[in-house]
Amino acid sequence: MFEHITENYRRLREEIAAVCAASGRAPGEVRLMAVTKTVPPEAVNHAIALGIDLIGENRVQELSEKRPRLNLDGVEVHLIGHLQTNKVRAVVPGVDCIQSVDSMHLAREISAKAEKSGIIQPVLAEVNIGEEERKFGFTLQSVASALEEFASLPGLRVDGLMTVAPFTRNAGKNCANFILLHKIFLDINAKKLDNIYMRTLSMGMSSDFREAIIAGSTLVRVGSALFGQRVVR
Ligand SMILES: *Cc1c(COP(=O)(O)O)cnc(C)c1O
Repeated sequence: MFEHITENYRRLREEIAAVCAASGRAPGEVRLMAVTKTVPPEAVNHAIALGIDLIGENRVQELSEKRPRLNLDGVEVHLIGHLQTNKVRAVVPGVDCIQSVDSMHLAREISAKAEKSGIIQPVLAEVNIGEEERKFGFTLQSVASALEEFASLPGLRVDGLMTVAPFTRNAGKNCANFILLHKIFLDINAKKLDNIYMRTLSMGMSSDFREAIIAGSTLVRVGSALFGQRVVR
């Protein structure tokens, strides 16, 4: 029943390895996240059995509903969708990383809740590389100074940056912005700020993961190319 997932998974691993080889990177430098929004738990479990060890959900509610039916042994769970501040307590503690920290206000709320729970919450700062009005995130210009402020929040540990590139049929159009974000990622890393570890650059999805890997991504978030087209709800 899930043969298409098996086949897609095999092909994705091969393609990622091929793009890594072609761009002089070790295949182990790029993690593959399975994006599981709208995907039923049985299909997610199938992907986990194939070797997926990292899943991403967009919505707190959907994650809570599916979680009891997922085989999450040895699997990291990241939140990748916009998080409203009133939902912070539903995921802190509870997810291995919140990739979608898109405002200073949200960063403060997460830090406060983490402190209360006695944990340090790993996060990524989300950057809106296309400067799209509909999207959340810091601008390319503002992210470095925002992170200097994040550094002072005791409940957070910043592990890197995440971006959702503009939707386009021509993924080549996103190359320049991917390269720019990789440069900012390296520049921030070079500053050696407290609490800020630029280990993860989460960029690239089904349509543009090749371009993102070439530009320096360390984590690609793939949904439809693994599970098939999502049914719009
Ligand atoms: C849905 C989603 C993805 C995966 O999208 P595909 O194009 O299906 O690979 C990746 N990242 C985020 C933040 C998403 O919401």
